Amino acid sequence: MEFKFGGSAENQKTVLGHPAGLFVLFFTEMWERFSFYGMRALLVLFLVSTLIDGGWDWSRADALVLYGWYTGLVYLTPIIGGFIADKFMGYRNAVVLGALIMTLGHGSMALEGLTSIFFYIGLSLLIIGNGFFKPNISSMVGQLYKNHGKEKDSGYTIFYMGINAGAFLGILLCGYIGENIGWHYGFGLAGIFMFLGMLQFYFTQKIFGRIGLSPKQTQDFDDVIEDSVEKIGEDIEEVIEEAESSGVVRDRMIVIGVFSIFVIFFWWAFEQAGGSMTVFAADYTDRALVGSAALTFKIVNTIITVVPMLVITWVLVMLFKQTFQNYAFANVLLGLSFVIIWGIVIWMLNREFQSDATEVPASWFSVLNSLFIILFAPLFSKIWESKLNPSGPVKFAIGLLLVGFGFGVLAYGAAGIPDGAKTASVSLMFLVVAYFLHTMGELCVSPVGLSYVSKLAPVKFVSLMFGIWFTANFFANLLGGFTGSYIDPISEEYGLTTFFLIFTIIPISAALIMLLLNPMLKRMMHGIE
Ligand code: GLN
Repeated sequence: MEFKFGGSAENQKTVLGHPAGLFVLFFTEMWERFSFYGMRALLVLFLVSTLIDGGWDWSRADALVLYGWYTGLVYLTPIIGGFIADKFMGYRNAVVLGALIMTLGHGSMALEGLTSIFFYIGLSLLIIGNGFFKPNISSMVGQLYKNHGKEKDSGYTIFYMGINAGAFLGILLCGYIGENIGWHYGFGLAGIFMFLGMLQFYFTQKIFGRIGLSPKQTQDFDDVIEDSVEKIGEDIEEVIEEAESSGVVRDRMIVIGVFSIFVIFFWWAFEQAGGSMTVFAADYTDRALVGSAALTFKIVNTIITVVPMLVITWVLVMLFKQTFQNYAFANVLLGLSFVIIWGIVIWMLNREFQSDATEVPASWFSVLNSLFIILFAPLFSKIWESKLNPSGPVKFAIGLLLVGFGFGVLAYGAAGIPDGAKTASVSLMFLVVAYFLHTMGELCVSPVGLSYVSKLAPVKFVSLMFGIWFTANFFANLLGGFTGSYIDPISEEYGLTTFFLIFTIIPISAALIMLLLNPMLKRMMHGIE
């Protein structure tokens, strides 16, 4: 029988028109990103807080350097994890192994109070685990779809919503618990969900059929397979593929390389979010909540927390409907993680309502990014499916333009601040608008990029090519941290506006170059849309 989607017969059941397996990957990735973004939110805060508050009393500069290395290295290991999975262990084993290593990493970080070595061991395990996890789960998404059509793009966009649901909850909850209850609770919390997420994936993996098995297992399977028609079809496909001049393969790999280089400019600017944009939020904006503003903020905060929670819980229920029969245990584990998370959310919101907050926390702005993604991803996915769908390089150019415009808004907002001022009270709307533009840019670049890598990469090296795609983030995050750390000297000498203009001009220039390259790149993609 010819299946519409890749994977088992079970995977042909759909949720929102996509194969059920997409949502298994959605939730596994959601918990992993919860871990990554949760740690990212806590790292600098923990390091710079005083010994009395349980921190390490580091200088801001030192903490930002470690932050840069951590957020950079997690994106360097995928090239190794991708290669190992393509060649030897298969995507599924790699995802499970990676999740297990990351769970141990959280366990180790939670013991940071005993000796600081545990903290470093924990961070190293997270970096290694991510290398096995991230490129391989990204490859599996693409293999759920049999053709390279628009369905795959929209599959990646849904997956991207899972990424951001995890990021959103991780930043919100790990941040809150780490800061208010105790750092190691924050570090450990993510480990619990990572572990449940891993078990959920492990016990549901049969749904993927042959997708993600090791090259060796795939071979054995081929030997016994009875469905010879399918086999012949595949053989023909392989022959055609090989017959395709190696030039096509080479051209497409070059396009992935070009995308990976341009995306460095994007993330370099975008990732100022965790660094200089947070400094701007903390020291230069008016976050005071006077009069009724405090209550308004609490209500807004409750709505933006509960609504995404309801949406993902609804997705969870739809997945259960399709898979409970065959994967009851895995579903129970996943359900358990949701019960815990709802409990924490309700406890936190209740606690917040009782507090007498006088200002918006500086870290609050960073959840806007994931929130905007969850809200607007469906719209973008519709645009890509419509007649308005621009070519890949044009999408990249739009993304770069938007991130540049976002910094243009910040440059404008900072214009009234005297050179070298240490504080100011600029309206926080500038930050909200900047985050909005950056997120719209991200939607033009990041999920789209995943989909293009999946379409352009030769079948045998999909994960390795994802590794290369993620390596761009290594350079971007490291350089971004480095550039961001110059915020003080640059604003003393030339003003904060000049500092933000750097991040305006460079991405816009990169966008213009991308537009010039568009016709050539389109040709080199050889029919991939
Ligand atoms: N926000 C996305 C994720 O966490 C993309 C990150 C990136 O590629 N820099 O997966």
